[in-house]
Amino acid sequence: MAATLIDGNSLAAHLREKLKRDVADLRSYGKSVRLTAVLIGDDASAASYARSQAKHAESVGIGYDLVQLPPNTTMPQATEAIERLNHDAAVSGVMLHMPVPKGLDGFALQQRIAAVKDVEGVSAENLGLLAMGREALAPCTAAAAFACLQSTGVEIRGKRAVVIGRSVIVGKPLAMMLIGANATVTQCHTQTRDLVSHTRNAEILMVAAGRAGLIGAEHVSPGAIVIDVGTHRVPVRQADGTEKMTTVGDVRFDEVVPLASHLTPVPGGVGPVTVAMLLANTVAAARGV
Ligand code: NAD
Repeated sequence: MAATLIDGNSLAAHLREKLKRDVADLRSYGKSVRLTAVLIGDDASAASYARSQAKHAESVGIGYDLVQLPPNTTMPQATEAIERLNHDAAVSGVMLHMPVPKGLDGFALQQRIAAVKDVEGVSAENLGLLAMGREALAPCTAAAAFACLQSTGVEIRGKRAVVIGRSVIVGKPLAMMLIGANATVTQCHTQTRDLVSHTRNAEILMVAAGRAGLIGAEHVSPGAIVIDVGTHRVPVRQADGTEKMTTVGDVRFDEVVPLASHLTPVPGGVGPVTVAMLLANTVAAARGV
């Protein structure tokens, strides 16, 4: 039987409805719910991401500001802009668009964002709290992948979960969340030998390798839940011989859909939920986590 598809758009819409009510509640107590993004330089994709964030924030009633700094901004100037937002009581959440221009240290700047306002969950403090099983502002993509898994309603406790990827924003926090939910977790990465021997053992397979089509039928055990975090724009040849750009994941969807019990499509799976998680973190930050 074909997998049940996890509909990220409808999950995100459901989350946004709840957030709308939460924002209205917080405002009725006089709390400010405001997200401020810092964009340094003129990276076109960051600017387009910022526009889409503004639209999403406003759709649930979250105030949104974009602080734009010129490409020749220095580390002390960028640090000062972040510190100013850390101390501004009207600002609930702060995020820094990446990449920052050459010559600036994006990691160091992200670490200057106050942990209580770090709505992307990229600070050492928030990752540390997550590792300790404490309340934290978790990285949005990992939280979205985990929410997709939870939306299946399948019990996670005791399951064999395999995470492919060990990045700080996806793979590692995802493994921490799964351990927190009492799964038995194996983390795979580029140096893993015989990847298929691990993935075939998985009851839950979370794929965040950033390699288009890495995972196919040979990697998946029948009945596994497969969450595909990967997102890639690739050219696909049409019947008339022309090429058209399309979005695909790390999972070969057509091969895995007949095997898995649940599967996230790409697009329309983890992606839309990630945006909702940024808003959820902003609301949590406004509430004081
Ligand atoms: P990354 O490149 O930082 O990390 C990829 C990880 O996968 C690394 O830890 C690496 O060791 C591992 N890996 C790579 N190739 C592998 C292989 N062949 N076998 C086993 N492990 C392998 O990427 P990231 O930032 O963690 O993002 C992962 C994917 O998620 C990317 O495709 C990215 O575009 C996507 N992403 C999606 C969203 C979303 O909202 N859906 C958000 C952020 C990132």
